[in-house]
Amino acid sequence: MSRLSSPGASRSNTPLPHDPLASTSSTPYHNPGTPGSSFNQIASSPPRKRQRTRTIVDHPDRDQLESRQPATCNECCTSDVFFEVGTIKGKGNDCLDENLDFSSNRDERFYFPEADCVIQVENTLFRVHKFVLARDSSAFQDMFSLPMDQSGSCDQSPRFHEGTNDKNPIKLFGDTAEDFRIMLSLLYSLPPELQIYQTSSAPVPQLLTLTSILNKYHFATTSIWALSALYDVLSGKHGTPLPPHDVNNPQCIETLLERIVEVACVCGHAELRDFIEERWCARICTASGSLMGIDAYRREREARWAVHVADKWELTRLAGVAYYTLLLETNGAINQSFSFHTSTHDDSNTANEPQPDPWIPPALTKSQTVRLLVGHRSLILLGDQLRSTTPTFPRPDGCVFHVHGCLSAWSTAWREVSRSETTLYKFKSCDIIGKLKSMEEQIMGNTDLQCALTPVCRRRAMSAVRELRESISKGLSDHFVDITREVT
Ligand SMILES: [Zn+2]
Repeated sequence: MSRLSSPGASRSNTPLPHDPLASTSSTPYHNPGTPGSSFNQIASSPPRKRQRTRTIVDHPDRDQLESRQPATCNECCTSDVFFEVGTIKGKGNDCLDENLDFSSNRDERFYFPEADCVIQVENTLFRVHKFVLARDSSAFQDMFSLPMDQSGSCDQSPRFHEGTNDKNPIKLFGDTAEDFRIMLSLLYSLPPELQIYQTSSAPVPQLLTLTSILNKYHFATTSIWALSALYDVLSGKHGTPLPPHDVNNPQCIETLLERIVEVACVCGHAELRDFIEERWCARICTASGSLMGIDAYRREREARWAVHVADKWELTRLAGVAYYTLLLETNGAINQSFSFHTSTHDDSNTANEPQPDPWIPPALTKSQTVRLLVGHRSLILLGDQLRSTTPTFPRPDGCVFHVHGCLSAWSTAWREVSRSETTLYKFKSCDIIGKLKSMEEQIMGNTDLQCALTPVCRRRAMSAVRELRESISKGLSDHFVDITREVT
């Protein structure tokens, strides 16, 4: 069973094992059901936590606090509950916010004066309708279900005012204002306005944002709809996508591929993830050409991007193809090449993150360079092993002279082609796949072998070679291991 389950399953609180976003931006809140949690507590991520339950009486800085003169609201602030708002501490509630910076701007499109909920994302204020946000079993439904003081008085706790006006908005973290605006544009859309997402010219970057943020806030069916729309567009269900969004087209840059993989993995859409992985492998393989030409440059760039994405999201097939291709494109100058391109950081930091320039692949980390070198050595050893080990195949019924006839001739032919000038010198020492393909062709053209083997045995022998090549292709990533990394 795939590691990634259906989109619905990703709504659970258990993050994917390789999900680096699960504990940060993809988790909008900690526990919506925690009694007494304020909206801002819910919406924010650590380390911003309030201390509302601690009274000033037992606070360690009691003397200092009592000497402070907070700008309290004289009309309603009578509580002695201690709390923190931003960096300002005091006694009372959110009416202290007069001293805070209110440079936030109202959004031009989604600030409805008659709406009942103010939300701040970055420095932008949105005033929207609760019933729109709370639909579809979203995380906002949990937020709004927390106890609210409908009277609007603030004599109990600061949380009762959050979201009711510009001074006390519900603050969301981890999103950009543009991301939130895109989500609202969908939630407030009429059906005809959604037609664009069902065409080949659908705005893929916008769909990616939608998919990500809808999943983050747990919009049950809407997020699944967005994922399906994204997959349909990318897979060509509505026709070939626009060139920059067509994953088969070189105009579709690697940063977009990486973003799609990220969304597919975070949202748990295995089909989309596998589709992109398969397409990316094909892109790398078909970008071949003259080693001194532009195709070789593109091939290496594709592979270098893919190495980082495959490692980050544990895409083993893509990792195998990417490392292997990178090895072939740089073999012979391996030391110079990787000393120039290798990052000085190890894998524990942000060296894996792509650089801002979408055309420049990230530098290899130390671990990735080790994997590449280990893979180089491992594949050369495999080549030596293949030369001395003839692929076998079972004796078919009716072949009476199999062991001393068919197998003997087959073994002789294998040794010849594995040591032929073409096999030894046309390909790089670590290019096992290239060598095996060439050996298949040489065997096919061996007229002596056609006479020495029965037709059935000859077919079985060729199948054995093909299966061996496919098996090695699938297991390429097993050769690229970091032997310096401690096993945890
Ligand atoms: Zn036979």
